[in-house]
Amino acid sequence: MALNKRVVNIISNRNYESRKTSEILVSKLRKSGFEPSVTYDEKAELNICIGGDGAFLRAVHRSKFPSIPFVGINTGHLGFFQEITPDGIDTFIQRYISGDYNIDEIFLVSASICSDEKCYYQTAINEIVIKGIASKIIHLDVSIDNNHLEKFSGDGLIISTPVGSTAYNYSAGGSIIHPSIKALQITPISPIISNAYRSLPNSTIIPGDSVIKINPERRYMNSILIVNDGYEYKYKDISTIDLTISKKTIYKLNFSKDMYWENLKNKFL
Ligand code: NAP
Ligand code: MN
Repeated sequence: MALNKRVVNIISNRNYESRKTSEILVSKLRKSGFEPSVTYDEKAELNICIGGDGAFLRAVHRSKFPSIPFVGINTGHLGFFQEITPDGIDTFIQRYISGDYNIDEIFLVSASICSDEKCYYQTAINEIVIKGIASKIIHLDVSIDNNHLEKFSGDGLIISTPVGSTAYNYSAGGSIIHPSIKALQITPISPIISNAYRSLPNSTIIPGDSVIKINPERRYMNSILIVNDGYEYKYKDISTIDLTISKKTIYKLNFSKDMYWENLKNKFL
């Protein structure tokens, strides 16, 4: 019987730098006894994603949130998720072979988006945003575990995961949450605070086992836009959106517990 090869998926975006990095990676992995696969193999032991954060987000969505751990090589702009640099491939392979790493669990956010007839489901890595289809204010009732919190009026709400807290959430004034903390963050986008409307001006951080319920005002049921990690979805007659931390999680290799803070400082300051 043939020896079982250790299959590693390589998921690369199409830009020049990524394709070049992918070629180098394929040959180095082969030399180290792995079987790199550029088409997605569900029996692989590792997914290596080449590109920026957008490439990572797309790779996770396209592979349907698998239990195979991910690691990223950054050839993109920011690459917050992509901790390996193209010149660090040799070190990465060595450390991977000797098992010198941890596997982190990444919490995801799920939404069930319901009309009176039907529900639709979404899962995101960074965030699910609820905003208006047109450039109008939307009004949303927000409850946490069936306790009414606020009637929000403004551009929309970002429901962010811990790993998503450094993305859109951060630009909208939300806090950075360490990825080991199981929580969701509700961050308002241009909340209105006036005699006419009163919304919470800042973020609220919700425990990981709570349910966030959002009910659009009836006349806005057809003007709600759902944005999942940057991708837009429109549904008819939305009456309720329930958001929770997903039962599903994904996994990422972590080569140092200091990496998160180094990455944060390097990429944001
Ligand atoms: P994009 O338009 O290229 O993304 C915007 C920027 O966010 C890129 O620089 C991207 O990094 C970075 N980014 C993505 N996820 C991140 C994270 N978890 N932590 C820190 N930075 C992160 O589109 P994209 O690359 O497909 O990313 C989609 C994300 O863009 C959405 O999930 C949302 O969070 C974010 N977004 C941000 C704003 C805003 O800040 N005002 C508005 C809309 C969407 P790369 O350069 O490496 O791709
Ligand atoms: Mn991008």
